[in-house]
Amino acid sequence: MPSLLLRGLTHFATSCFCLLLTACAEAPAQSLTTPPAAPAPAEITAPQPAMIAPEVKLSFADWRTLLRSDAIAAGIDADLFDRTFADISLDPNVIKADNSQPEFSRPVWEYIDGAVSVSRIAQGRLLKAQHRPTLKAIRSAYAVDHEVLIAIWGMESNYGSNIGSHNVIRSLATLAYDGRRQVFWRSQLLAALQILQAGDGPAQGLIGSWAGAMGQTQFMPTTFNQHAVDFDGDGRRDLWSSTPDALASAAHYLQASGWENGQPWGFEVNLPQGFDYALADPEVRRSLAQWRSLGVNPVRAIDASEQSLATLFLPAGHRGPAFLLLNNFRSILKYNNSTAYALAIGLLSDALDGNPGVQAAWPRNDRQLGRSERIELQERLSAKGYEPGPADGIIGANTRKAVRAFQQSLGHPADGYPSHELLKQLRN
Ligand code: CA
Repeated sequence: MPSLLLRGLTHFATSCFCLLLTACAEAPAQSLTTPPAAPAPAEITAPQPAMIAPEVKLSFADWRTLLRSDAIAAGIDADLFDRTFADISLDPNVIKADNSQPEFSRPVWEYIDGAVSVSRIAQGRLLKAQHRPTLKAIRSAYAVDHEVLIAIWGMESNYGSNIGSHNVIRSLATLAYDGRRQVFWRSQLLAALQILQAGDGPAQGLIGSWAGAMGQTQFMPTTFNQHAVDFDGDGRRDLWSSTPDALASAAHYLQASGWENGQPWGFEVNLPQGFDYALADPEVRRSLAQWRSLGVNPVRAIDASEQSLATLFLPAGHRGPAFLLLNNFRSILKYNNSTAYALAIGLLSDALDGNPGVQAAWPRNDRQLGRSERIELQERLSAKGYEPGPADGIIGANTRKAVRAFQQSLGHPADGYPSHELLKQLRN
């Protein structure tokens, strides 16, 4: 959230630094849906008046001492805390990963190519057949379809083969001490200690990604505490080595996120000539019948109620494929708040069900805007009187709206897609 910090500095140049830290730390997580549970001391303290010297950063050892008393107050056993933290040091690689802002990210078609690869589909089909009795029992318990669970398993850990090798306590301690959203990370760290106290972690300790996502379904600690289940009945919620526990936990999470069993996540559609692309906006929800009356038709037969509400999604702008998205897509977004991720899960689920892939061609020759170009785009839109939000290089709802308004002023297809052509127009 460097842009937030920068904006704060402009506005509160004479205020104390802890106010900025709090504002920064309270920003919502992008892909981790559980809100922070435990407030950090900085949040309890009222903002200090101006003219106070910048806050002196605690040493890691002093910070750990404060964390220890918070953890004990939250019910963590003192011996468990001391044993767990005995060899914990800061991990510089975790800070590097947290601060990484790559200039170029992969275009959505390359991401989908990698996520929904031929080998992943083949392996997923095999595993779906192998685990059929477990999947049936899970569907009886949580009313979640087989395919989406296998797809999540495939995307999160390549079917359990890549669950990360970081010490989760070390990663979370590093992020809670020195990361960008310290309140959030601290709540994850306390939740991880609760998992250890409940005896659910593996004997070698909590292993996961650099950001603390754990097991075959890559649950964050707070998500683990809310949604992980012991499905194989051995008394432990073991997302690391028990596939039934991992798949059932994902099902439990999707159920809590409003999954509608038997309904599609969405489907690819054809758009008619002269279509108004401004309707491809997450805020425009219409029934399938209404979309049909506008000439928006599925590319293949779909089993969904005509009254279901859907939004139109153009992941690569008007020159690429179009999709109608139903409620289940929103449930997947609660698992991981990235439309590219949710689209990949949907397409992989379809493929596991024997359906063909995306029919329309992706605009593979389009050059993606780099981060500095996206920032420039936002700055130039602002200069022209549009309101794309802070110039942070992140294309969110406000930036798309501003892009759309600018496209409309030019008489171009208003798909809200930030193309290289559009940036050229803005430079003129
Ligand atoms: Ca178990």
